[in-house]
Amino acid sequence: MAILDIVYYGNPKLEQVSEPVTEVTPEIRKLVKDMFETMYYTNGVGLSAPQIGVNKRILVIDTSGGNDRTKQVTLINPVVVDQNGEQKGQEGCLSFPGLFADVVRSNNVKVRGLDLEGKQVEMEGSELLARALLHEIDHLDGILFIQRMKKADRESIIKKWKKQGVKKEKEDKDKVLV
Ligand SMILES: [Zn+2]
Repeated sequence: MAILDIVYYGNPKLEQVSEPVTEVTPEIRKLVKDMFETMYYTNGVGLSAPQIGVNKRILVIDTSGGNDRTKQVTLINPVVVDQNGEQKGQEGCLSFPGLFADVVRSNNVKVRGLDLEGKQVEMEGSELLARALLHEIDHLDGILFIQRMKKADRESIIKKWKKQGVKKEKEDKDKVLV
């Protein structure tokens, strides 16, 4: 397994629409394993393939942060089939280290995609899991969390980003990083 390099805001790969995976090959399964390792290493609870510079429609999530491996979610070619309710909370992104803002998301989502065997699966998630699913699926469409927050917060984050650049240290475990 390998820890992969995170791609940061400013890299055009983050703003591209990623390509569907046509076949779940051993290479894809290896990539998913590395994505989990990278996500745990950086204290994230979710990671999408474009964030490690691969424009393929793959996401991984673990809302337990690695404490409970039964919480591991892998979805390939995910789509949102239903969403409702509303949650507001602080959100961060591994591609914007150290920067957080309130983002309003649906509180409940139903998503569909392929699992690691290439079988179609459907799952539902609420609260943090719903937030992470929506954040990562946005990444696959080249949409960043700054596009989902209030204009003032977006401007403030971009300003801070330009000032501080990339902070390489590990993130605070208590914050939601996806
Ligand atoms: Zn993100």
